[in-house]
Amino acid sequence: MDMRPKRKTEKRNSNKLKWHFKAENVHDFAWAADPFFIHEQTSLENGTILHFLHKNDSLNDNWKRLQSYAVKCFEYMNENYGEYPYKQYSIIQGGDGGMEYPMCTLITAEGSFKGLVSVTVHESIHSWFQGILGTNESKYEWMDEGFCTYAQYEVLNYLYKKNVLNPLYRQYKSYSNVAKSSYKEPLSTHADFYNLNYVYGVNAYNKGSVFLHQLGYIIGSEVLKTGMKKYFETWKFKHPKPTDFKRIMELESGLELDWYFEQFTQTTNTIDYAIAGVKSLGEKTQILFQKKGKNSNAFRYLSCHQ
Ligand SMILES: [Zn+2]
Repeated sequence: MDMRPKRKTEKRNSNKLKWHFKAENVHDFAWAADPFFIHEQTSLENGTILHFLHKNDSLNDNWKRLQSYAVKCFEYMNENYGEYPYKQYSIIQGGDGGMEYPMCTLITAEGSFKGLVSVTVHESIHSWFQGILGTNESKYEWMDEGFCTYAQYEVLNYLYKKNVLNPLYRQYKSYSNVAKSSYKEPLSTHADFYNLNYVYGVNAYNKGSVFLHQLGYIIGSEVLKTGMKKYFETWKFKHPKPTDFKRIMELESGLELDWYFEQFTQTTNTIDYAIAGVKSLGEKTQILFQKKGKNSNAFRYLSCHQ
């Protein structure tokens, strides 16, 4: 919502004020008020204002430090995923953990500073994946939480200058644990119909982020990057479905991606190939691939020049 509402004094009762909030292109709203809130603000170079509303307590320093991290997060997302279209965003202390809304988030902020940064980054990125790209998060939770988690760890890698080759290694591990278990379920499961809430969490957040990372492996990370911006520009303020996202990536890469989307989102099949052996044959190297899993006897040779 616009933090500068139009104020109107009620004539019948001069002790009361009426506040009007107006917001365009939003599909949800949240509202917070507390007479003891401290209100601080900073802005991006492009003029977008970030508001911070929090209690006056021992966490004041964390809230101050958070400002520059939040600015960098928004700048990174603007540059790499598409321009945040609203004039302001509010990070408000309250709620239960962290929850996303258009133009604001409610965060408890009771943990460590790193935790506060991580939750702020995650919830802010929901402005892109949920707020602006309004995917149905019950049906396609992986396009919402998964894409958000993917960008979250990319941004955290950037903020802390970690230069980790795969910032999603924890997400891979978590997905892999479930993929090897008997309680795995397809990514296409409706959020309300998982047998285990735990598997919903792993699928939506972790397998969803692995999906995007693996897509980058197939089409190339640079193509994925330009595709994500194209996806944002094409589908902002709309309600994209998996086929809409697939079409963007197919056009961007020139590849047919049905097989990947179907196998990764509609089944619990996993990657099942491995290198079974490597042989040196003069100027050539012969690599033996093995298809593990259901057809475990399938082997194929590939020769390549050294
Ligand atoms: Zn989330």
